[in-house]
Amino acid sequence: MIVKRFYITTPIYYVNAEPHIGHAYTTIVADVMNRFYRLLGYKTFFLTGTDEHGDKIVQAAREAGTDPKSYADHISGLFRDTWPTLNVRNDYFIRTTDPEHIKVVRYILQKVFDSGDIYFSSYKGLYCVGCERFYMERELVDGKCPDHDKAPVEREESNYFFRMSKYQDWLIQYIDSHPDFIRPERYRNEVMSFLREPLEDLCISRPKERLNWGIPLPFDDNYVTYVWFDALINYVSALKYPDGPLYREFWPSVQHTIAKDILKPHGIYWPTIIKAADLPLFRHLNVHGYWKIDEGKMSKSKGTVVRPLDLVSKYGVDAFRYFLLREMVFGLDANFSEEALVHRLNADLANDLGNLFSRTLAMTAKYFAGKVPPFTAATDDIDVELKKQLEEAMDAVAAEIPKFGFHKALMAIWECINAANRYVDRVGPWNLAKDATQHGRLQTVIRTLLELNRVVAVLIAPFMPETAEKILDRLGCPKRALDLRLAEDGRWGTLEEGRPVSKGEALFPRIDFKEQVMKESIPAAQSATEQTPLIPFDRFKEIDLRVGVVKHAERIPKSKKLLLLTVDIGEERQVVAGIGQTHAPEDVIGKQVVVVANLQPAKLMGYESHGMVLAASDGETLRLLTTESAVTPGARVS
Ligand SMILES: [Zn+2]
Repeated sequence: MIVKRFYITTPIYYVNAEPHIGHAYTTIVADVMNRFYRLLGYKTFFLTGTDEHGDKIVQAAREAGTDPKSYADHISGLFRDTWPTLNVRNDYFIRTTDPEHIKVVRYILQKVFDSGDIYFSSYKGLYCVGCERFYMERELVDGKCPDHDKAPVEREESNYFFRMSKYQDWLIQYIDSHPDFIRPERYRNEVMSFLREPLEDLCISRPKERLNWGIPLPFDDNYVTYVWFDALINYVSALKYPDGPLYREFWPSVQHTIAKDILKPHGIYWPTIIKAADLPLFRHLNVHGYWKIDEGKMSKSKGTVVRPLDLVSKYGVDAFRYFLLREMVFGLDANFSEEALVHRLNADLANDLGNLFSRTLAMTAKYFAGKVPPFTAATDDIDVELKKQLEEAMDAVAAEIPKFGFHKALMAIWECINAANRYVDRVGPWNLAKDATQHGRLQTVIRTLLELNRVVAVLIAPFMPETAEKILDRLGCPKRALDLRLAEDGRWGTLEEGRPVSKGEALFPRIDFKEQVMKESIPAAQSATEQTPLIPFDRFKEIDLRVGVVKHAERIPKSKKLLLLTVDIGEERQVVAGIGQTHAPEDVIGKQVVVVANLQPAKLMGYESHGMVLAASDGETLRLLTTESAVTPGARVS
């Protein structure tokens, strides 16, 4: 049997700041990929670590009143200790101060130097200390570094340069002929647009008199290696390039995961360094966007740091992981807020998944003394339909995760979970239980639900390993998430008949956000009034907007603001609307309105509201949204 291999990396994180949500996201993404390929039966290797050289570390250490190595030890330790709390299971943690890494960097430098692609020259230019690099005039914004908003200083220096320009045409051709080498596409396009300008050679050294916190060049002891040439090489040094068995085993299947701020070093410097060092190229560079908190980029230099640990201990690691993966479309920016996290927790995890699991177990307990029943009756169309939905979820997982389409994979799994909840409502096991002749049918229904819960647990295991283990444990088939294999554990019908299942507590207790959060909240994206964050189309699509006709309207007693409406949206809905100050009941009867049809029910002044009527306000007047001419009630608005 051929064992396939998969090697995934995160960037090594720079130790001038503590871990924040940006680091957490990249690392969790890599963890999900690693777990997914293990689930498929691949042999995998997952690398993360810390980048520890350069001026900024020297500065930060000085400010902290310590030496660079102690400082790096401390921050690197924070990163290493954070990952287990997020259920991240990396195989190796590399540090650029590791002697093994230093050896490999020197080896590759010498190799490239010997081949003539590193040369000595003097350079005069504009240097940003924050970025640790020289800037071209045209890269500056109003004469300032775009990242640091500070004017760079003029500096002249003799240094070693890597002949990157030599590889420009080759790189353009390579990317052209390998369209998914850098993905999603927008980042490939971005790299290609960098490459439309002539590529400059890359300065790869610093004189020791100015910076000695770095790896000495093997061919000139007066210089140390400049950050990128050192840092990028971690991806092969961790595998003990050139002779290590890990290198031979895993390098051919390597994929990198990064945030878009380091696209250029990974999309341009790294492939050209690899080419010059005569190594095979990586398979894919996978690039994600930023988490926006409050406003602007989630950035260590601007000081908006959300500590992942705070929310993890508050809501649980799986809710946190689920939120990050479900909320962000890989490649695009997304908004982070605690409120949105709690919303996902309540709606998707407590309501949909948690409810399905707990009702399945409750019915197994009630009707079959908590033991797995056999399949006895012939399966109905409705069972076949549900199984088909599960197969679709499995197909979506298989198709989307390799492309980093996490939100799509999760949406498909949740469609299946929701279909199963509807299945329960439609079949009505409680009615079958009243009829002795339906006993066999009831067995099949409950067994179908048990099997579905089990397979769903396997599918969510890469995203929410803890929850997957909990579900499997209670279904009487305990297994460590990392030991699951889709080929066996994803098979239908493998629960052992007669095996006891245990009900246990709710998987995700609901959170009352207002109570929980108001006192001790972190800044929520929505709290900013100035600017509405952009949402992906998928989010908008989740809102079910319908045209309705108001059939009946009356004032709610003791309320000036609220009207109680009956609206026909293809079916009759009771909706409470806050339009009573501008609209009399008789004004709105017969009106066409637009209704948010899939809003969670709410109680206002004691009246249930199943939806919301849309109205526009400029602060003074309030006007109902309507259609330009009559439309059949229930018509979709999009
Ligand atoms: Zn800068």
